[in-house]
Amino acid sequence: MATVRRLSGAIGDDMATIPVFDGHNDTVLSLRETGRSFFDRSTQGHVDLPRANDGGLIGGFFAVWVPNPDEAEIDPDSDDLTTSSYGSVESMPPILPLATAEHFALDALATLAGVARASDGKVAIVRTADDIRRNMKNGIFSMELHIEGAEPIDPSLNTLETFYLAGVRSIGMVWSRPNAFANGVPFQFPGSPDTGPGLTDAGKALVAACDELGIVVDMSHLNEAGFWDIAGISKNPLVCTHSGVHALSPSTRNLTDKQLDAIKDSEGIVGVNFHVGFINREGSRDPDKTSVSHLADHVDYMCERLGTDKVALGSDFDGATMPGDLKDAAGLPLLIEELVRRGYDDATLRAIGVENWLRIFDRTWKN
Ligand SMILES: [Zn+2]
Repeated sequence: MATVRRLSGAIGDDMATIPVFDGHNDTVLSLRETGRSFFDRSTQGHVDLPRANDGGLIGGFFAVWVPNPDEAEIDPDSDDLTTSSYGSVESMPPILPLATAEHFALDALATLAGVARASDGKVAIVRTADDIRRNMKNGIFSMELHIEGAEPIDPSLNTLETFYLAGVRSIGMVWSRPNAFANGVPFQFPGSPDTGPGLTDAGKALVAACDELGIVVDMSHLNEAGFWDIAGISKNPLVCTHSGVHALSPSTRNLTDKQLDAIKDSEGIVGVNFHVGFINREGSRDPDKTSVSHLADHVDYMCERLGTDKVALGSDFDGATMPGDLKDAAGLPLLIEELVRRGYDDATLRAIGVENWLRIFDRTWKN
């Protein structure tokens, strides 16, 4: 691509070691559902410490997402939600009971805390950008605690402070369903993200409270009206942790050019989602029809539109279907090598891998 300097050398072994801090994973759900250990190499799911080390994955947003207890068929690893009740606004389930969501979130956060505690110093929960910098120097894997869908937080926001104390430093307003704060997009292809009303009064208060505490507000899964509400309220850079380019793959889950321009104007960031259904131009969910080349197309587009300092990676590991060649966290170097082939230099890759996130955290998080 034209906007980055070409790398003079050939693809070398060192390219495989570009560190990546990832904008989204559902690993806690995978650990809980399969019973596998984060410390042992597994053939299940996408992230464990051995595969992270192989791929240069140095940490990321660990999402706590609350399953709907009434919909046992909703599997976060499923790649075909379009045929579920999440496939249209009309068929969305009712708002989750607060007690159910709160209990699940506290339990899942405890699972993540348990991973750090059992890691013998190899994994640590991070609360500042400097925590991540220090961990990188010391070879410690960084776990950022994220709530995906604000259902666990009471609408009067009393427990927001409790989750903050527990280490939560980012909150996705919604998953793809309504809650007390906002409305998520259904999974449709092709489809527009403009699928309903914007934030509720509680949602607007939540954004202001997150700004005040220093919590990143994540707009992935949010419908377009909610996106523009947050753009008008938040004083922080706009963040979508795991989304793609609507112009390349017109899924409801992807961002329109107008949204990308607003993210650029706010000095914000997008973590490019790896899910095949959001990066394949035809919306195909077949991993064999989708490769790191499709993924690199989204990275290219966002770099052109936003600038290379506002683009990152947001894999959706353990919560989505990966491109057939990439497979899991150990496959990250394949994406890096594809970007090198397209002319990305080392400094740009390091920015996309980690440093652009650190800029957002320095701006948004408070000690
Ligand atoms: Zn998600």
